[in-house]
Amino acid sequence: MISKFFLRSAAASVALLLSTPLFAAQTLFTNVNVWDGVADEATPGLDVLISGNKVAEVGENLIAPDAVVINGGGKTLMPGLIDMHTHIMFPQGLPAHETTWGAAASGAMAREGFDVYMNQGFTTLRDMCGPANLGKAIAQGVLDGPRFYSSGACIGTTGGHTDWGVGTDRLGDKSNHAHAGNSYVVNGEDEWRAAARQNFRDGATFLKIMVGGGVASDFDPLESITANPAEIRAAVEVAEQFDSFVCMHVYQDEHINLAIDNGVTCVEHGFLMKEKTMKRMVKEGVALSAQSWMSYDVFKDPAGIPGFGPEQIAKGKLVNKGADDMFSWAKEHGVDMFQGGDVYTYDLIPFATKNISVLERWFTPVEALRSATSTAGKWLMKTGPKNPYKEAQLGTLKEGSYADVILVNGNPLKGTEILNNNDNVEVVMKDGKIYKNLLD
Ligand SMILES: [Zn+2]
Repeated sequence: MISKFFLRSAAASVALLLSTPLFAAQTLFTNVNVWDGVADEATPGLDVLISGNKVAEVGENLIAPDAVVINGGGKTLMPGLIDMHTHIMFPQGLPAHETTWGAAASGAMAREGFDVYMNQGFTTLRDMCGPANLGKAIAQGVLDGPRFYSSGACIGTTGGHTDWGVGTDRLGDKSNHAHAGNSYVVNGEDEWRAAARQNFRDGATFLKIMVGGGVASDFDPLESITANPAEIRAAVEVAEQFDSFVCMHVYQDEHINLAIDNGVTCVEHGFLMKEKTMKRMVKEGVALSAQSWMSYDVFKDPAGIPGFGPEQIAKGKLVNKGADDMFSWAKEHGVDMFQGGDVYTYDLIPFATKNISVLERWFTPVEALRSATSTAGKWLMKTGPKNPYKEAQLGTLKEGSYADVILVNGNPLKGTEILNNNDNVEVVMKDGKIYKNLLD
């Protein structure tokens, strides 16, 4: 039941974050159970030395006389979590940001959303429709928040899944979402190419396009194809010129294949695919960006979701049915999979870790964790020259990795459910700075 989720206050959970992040030239975590983001097991009894914003050393009995020491007490130190599909710019839901909130209010709400993510241990977000400028502000240290990879405004056609205007709009009217930099409603390959170029100009690190209908929107039945091959190819061509790639919002099997035929390498959602398509994705190196909690758990009862009318409820139920099969095939065929919450309201952000724990229906805990750490990090590294964090690896805890780590009370490799209690995420460090410390 979705309704009970809204009883929990996101704001209360943020109170655990430090008002000013703490930075020391060196920090030494002692006696920690280290999971590196990749291995099948964690290694107990290690020390981890952070120097500046990188992991300097992982080993036994490390000595660093000038370091600030954090006694890990045998708890698990692991890479900070990565959410690969958020919608930080419309935390009050799509309709409210069309009719009520402008870009300034949305941006201020996004800042609050960042803290809710950080409190859960998310040190990197990938935003799937919004101004790339926000990521630039974080990368330059002007704004505090998780590392932020932006798609820029997502690209779609009139009546497609980026057309979030009101029902009375006429052809050519610009929606509030478009004004806010969340979406482009464009038609024909030239307009798609221009939108793609504008996104990279703004600081996007990859592109998001809408190839089929969506769940939370008004004009696009799931079975509708909302882009033609020339438009898709135009976006892919621009992304390739920036040595990056295109992700597509898509559900139907036929649409997934249409997009892969035209060079798209990252499937968002994909819940109505066939097994044959999953095999094709593995063979051709296409990644799956999956939202297990939203699509499997929440859509079990879409009637309780605020803003969902009969059309959206019917679409939500259809998606829920497909999710079980898709995740089973993802496990069986070993597709490159990363997780993302697809949370489109502020009240849902505190549940972002559930997209890891719900995966345990099909995957082992370590597989679920890799989808939110090393596999996600691998794909973030594929974003070419616009990647603001090229110096080191994200999603791993190894010598030389970025110092994005979390200390967890317990061992999530034995069950990721413990991550759903924020109090178990006792220390959160991003870029060598401590944002949360419950040990003091
Ligand atoms: Zn989404």
